[in-house]
Amino acid sequence: LRATRIKRTKTVCTFCGVGCTFEVWTKGRKILKIQPTPDAPVNGISTCVKGKFGWDFINSEERLTKPLIRKGDEFYEATWEEALELIANKFQEIRERDGADAFGFISSSKCTNEENYLMQKFARAVIGTNNVDNCSRYCQSPATTGLFRTVGYGGDAGTIYDMAGAGLAIIVGANPAEAHPVIATRLKRAHKLNGQKLIVADLRKNEMAERSDLFLRPAPGTDHVWLSAVTKYIIDQGWHDREFLTKRVNGFDEYVKSLEKYTLEYAEEVTRIPKEQLIQTANMIYEADGTAIFWAMGVTQHCGGSETSTAISNLLLVTGNFGRPNAGAFPLRGHNNVQGACDFGALPNFFPGYELVTDDAVRERYEKAWNVKLPREKGLDNPGMVEAIHKGKLKAMYLMGEDMAWVDSNANHIHAALEKLEFFVVQDVFFTKTAQFADVILPASPSLEKEGTFTNTERRIQRLYQALEPLGESLPDWKIITALANHLGAHWCYEHPGEIMAEAASLTPLFAGVTYERLEGWNSLLWPVNADGTDTPLLYTERFPFPDGKAQLMPTDWVPPVKTGDEYDLVLNNGRLLEHFHEGNMTNKSRGLLYKVPDTFVEVSPELAKERGIKDGSLVRLESEYGAVKLRVIVTDRVRGNEVYVPMNSTNEDSAVNLLTNSFYDLVTHTPAYKETRVKMQVL
Ligand code: SF4
Repeated sequence: LRATRIKRTKTVCTFCGVGCTFEVWTKGRKILKIQPTPDAPVNGISTCVKGKFGWDFINSEERLTKPLIRKGDEFYEATWEEALELIANKFQEIRERDGADAFGFISSSKCTNEENYLMQKFARAVIGTNNVDNCSRYCQSPATTGLFRTVGYGGDAGTIYDMAGAGLAIIVGANPAEAHPVIATRLKRAHKLNGQKLIVADLRKNEMAERSDLFLRPAPGTDHVWLSAVTKYIIDQGWHDREFLTKRVNGFDEYVKSLEKYTLEYAEEVTRIPKEQLIQTANMIYEADGTAIFWAMGVTQHCGGSETSTAISNLLLVTGNFGRPNAGAFPLRGHNNVQGACDFGALPNFFPGYELVTDDAVRERYEKAWNVKLPREKGLDNPGMVEAIHKGKLKAMYLMGEDMAWVDSNANHIHAALEKLEFFVVQDVFFTKTAQFADVILPASPSLEKEGTFTNTERRIQRLYQALEPLGESLPDWKIITALANHLGAHWCYEHPGEIMAEAASLTPLFAGVTYERLEGWNSLLWPVNADGTDTPLLYTERFPFPDGKAQLMPTDWVPPVKTGDEYDLVLNNGRLLEHFHEGNMTNKSRGLLYKVPDTFVEVSPELAKERGIKDGSLVRLESEYGAVKLRVIVTDRVRGNEVYVPMNSTNEDSAVNLLTNSFYDLVTHTPAYKETRVKMQVL
């Protein structure tokens, strides 16, 4: 009877940063249904197609169920004891010979806050290096930097209710209808029923662009210019919020001087957006009761990603759109826990809660709590680690829950680096492309098989509960890291993720009042959380987190996109699809989703198709300076002229978009400039 019992378990969706919660109904290992409820604080009774139908991968026959150890070109199944002992011995040998900085650690935006906390603790306290990073490096670091510089916190200014309540929503370089569907639903409803105005700025005419009141279509890589020109025009018209600027913001005069060159005429010439549309944008901001700006990879994955993100924050400061409801900056986080992976310290320069590793007082607090000496210098970020491998300085890597061989830019360059590693440990749910380079592969459990917390794009921390037992001998990542730390001489005795959160909260002012009791059931907390448990749905109402409590306008300059040889005559844009999670490593194993979108493709404009004699379904070869792929064509006016679009999911090694992308980076954060790749096309 017990075996046939139907169980209902609250979980948090693992497919994007919206943070939908729902009940999963299970019977044995069978998932019967996903049921959202009105109690869910973000999504209520909504989910998207991934949240509803994306869970077949849990019972996939391709799941890793035992540790694997490399022998020549093959892997053999090993016991946990054998695998952990091998890793511990090899780690000790490399650390004694080459030092702690010969290690790199990649943590995961798919793993829980507690697991990210443990991964950075393992790197810092057990091995002794700050070389730890997570996949926010590929996407959101420039947005966080833009906000850190100007308003002090890197997270969204308010909640999903502020997003929907804004008088004007501006979406720049993001495709929420596919990448953040439940947020898009809120915005669609606000637009249709509540009179919210909508501006979309994008290369591609996506669904939100179709629905918008104003669609700006800039030349590739020029968002910074039109944003700065609109800000200058607003100031020139005297439409800036003088009272807010005087009371709450530093640096106005210097900032105004920095805008001198950003006239409407200059912006029209560079961006090809008609001057009238820029004036209309400024008018709509001036007239709106609260402006919320949303942005994602179309802004951040450029050499000037941090500069453009800063320009967005500057525009919001000039117009008084921080510290009030229904307004502010809303970078849209991609992975389900990209916010939490950063919040809990899986970064080379920050302890949990964004306290610098170079700050003596902070470091001493952690040294005392962990009873170790900690490294004083900032570590290597993800691209820095790859280059250090190529130079022979970084010898060993421990990677948790990221398929960097497919998701890092310029995949061939990454593969060459991974081949050079002396010792490589991969911890994942599947035998990924990255796992093919590993020496030891550790089988991990996905979200439905463990407890923990995720933090969504609003800074909302929510609990997930264990719906299923781990498959085979797979284990939750926090248990694996704990076991490995203890094999290396640590004395960690965590029995439950709640104890890990309690430790993190005791050390991190940002999470001082976070407890599992306060997060019970459908409850959630938005950081900063005070010791008494009061949280902060809306940031900056009283002060900005700078010494004098004031925000800082920061002059920036446009960084033009990188140039390539003339033979690469097409601009390659890339991004997500509604039906797939990033490169597809989970959703490709969900039958319904794969049936709906079986592989990736390239979108080609009608003009380009006519010029090259291409039809829907034609097979083409795209080639960049870095690699080549073969794809089927969809002819669509979603793209225009010489711009092509390739979704990032793929099911075979011939079609992965990152075989094409480059090795240029945001100048501040080293986020790859995925969106600055040029290709040429050959019809096959
Ligand atoms: Fe999951 Fe995002 Fe869809 Fe919500 S919107 S169900 S979090 S993929």
